This record gives sequence, C-alpha cells and structure tokens, in this order.
Amino acid sequence: MKKYLYFLIALLFACQPKQKDGRELVSVSILPQKYFVDQITGNLLQVNVLVPPGSSPHNYSILPSQMKDMAKSKVWLQVGLLTFEDALGDKLADINKDLNIVNCSEGIDPIAGSECEEEDHEHAHHEAYDPHVWLAPAESKIMAQNTLNALKTSFPQHAAIFDANYERFISKIDSVSALINQKLASLTNRNILIFHPTLGYYARQFGLTQIALELDGKEPSPMHMKSIVDLAREQNIRVIFIQKEFDVENAQQLARELDGEVVIIDPLDYDWEKQLQDITEKIAAQK
Ligand SMILES: [Zn+2]
Repeated sequence: MKKYLYFLIALLFACQPKQKDGRELVSVSILPQKYFVDQITGNLLQVNVLVPPGSSPHNYSILPSQMKDMAKSKVWLQVGLLTFEDALGDKLADINKDLNIVNCSEGIDPIAGSECEEEDHEHAHHEAYDPHVWLAPAESKIMAQNTLNALKTSFPQHAAIFDANYERFISKIDSVSALINQKLASLTNRNILIFHPTLGYYARQFGLTQIALELDGKEPSPMHMKSIVDLAREQNIRVIFIQKEFDVENAQQLARELDGEVVIIDPLDYDWEKQLQDITEKIAAQK
C-alpha cells in the first residue's frame, strides 16, 4: 500500500508542467549587471538582460517579446542613467505594478554629458550624464551596494547568502582596482583616444584623460577629426580604442593618419573582471 502511494505521488509530480527555470526572475538593463547579480546571488536567481549583445544601450527599444519577462520580474535593476530606462519605466508601471524599479547609480557623482546645442530630434540619443558607470571600480562598488540592497528587499529569505557573497565581490572589485593602479602607475602617456566615450569614469578614477572621437553620439565631423589628429600628433597618441559593436572605418582612417592602430574593447562584456583587466592591459601597452 505504502509503495502504491509513493507511486501515485511520483506520478502526480511527473504530470506537473515543467517550468523552464524554477528560479525567480530579476531584470537588468545591460549584461555586465548580470555579472554583478550573479556574483551577489551565486546564481540563486534567474537574470533577464534587456539589451541583447550587439545592441546599443543608448537608444534601445524593448521588443514586445521582452515585455513578458518584465511582467514576471520582481525587480528591475537599472543602470539609472540610460535614456531608454526612463521611458520604459513609465510603460512598465501598467503591466507590472509590483515591479521594483531601482536606480543602481544612486549615490554616484555623475559626469556631465557633452552639451547638446541644437534641438534636433533626429539627433542621436543624448544623455544628460555619462552613463558608463560600470566601467570604473569605484562606481561599480556603489552599483554593487545598490544591487545588494534591492535584492535583499525583494528576496529577504536569501539576505544572509547575498551579504556573504557581496563581501567577496567587494574584495574582488578592490583587487581589480589595486591591479589597475599598479599597471597604470608608471604609464607616461595618460591619454585614451576612443571612438565612443565609454571610459570617462575609469579615466577619472585612475587619472587619465579620455579623448572621444564621437561628439554628442554622432560620427565625427571632418573638423572634429582634424582637431583630434592635431591633438593626437602633439601628444604622440597612436592607439584608437573602439567598442566591438562599432563601425571601425572612421577609426581606421584615423589610425592610418597617425601611423597607429585600432584596438577593440568590449565594455558590454558579461565578465566584468576580465574585461576591466583586458582594457587595462591594452591601455598599459600604449607607448
Ligand atoms: Zn555607450
């Protein structure tokens, strides 16, 4: 009889529709934030990343198919400085009233975006502040703290695990920071010539100067190109950094003029630690 009962119970469970992933769902805007959440939760939660690889987080529009995951999410961890996040936040209030929307840049001292003079709506998206906060260890620590607080609010049952993992993650960020300091300490050329200005916070933390080819999110004009060429020659800069997703044509043209090279980085890589090390190696390799 007992055996029969076990069989019945087993059968009952077998008939339950299987969920793809039993873990609770949180949403983040960009892939490096998934790394932050995974570090803190130890993979206890399922993470939905809004901006897919290859898309720009500056002017992203959510796909209808992604709304389902946003409706199921308990919390949305925003970078907090991306234009698309504002507009989407209003839309989401209708489909998921309980969604906890968190600005992970809260408490960060933001770098002002470049001035936008013309009121042109065809103009590429332009943020009031530089949103690339995740690429500097100092800002990443604030993001990690905001992420931890939000996750503990939404999932209090895991608070102790999150706290312990968070401490480990902060030590990791501190080690990365120390390593970057050490690698860049003796660097004489402290300029970073870059197509899209992703390293503003990194430059601020480590005492470097970022020179961007892009102006207000637009391709460089011939005049701007000329002033960059002059500056680069004067400062003896031969490396042009460019993000994986970008068209390298302009950068290559400039590299030829400077008798230099184009170096590709991936600021939206999942593996935050590896990427910061890679960026640092490439900056340190500049002569
Ligand atoms: Zn960007």
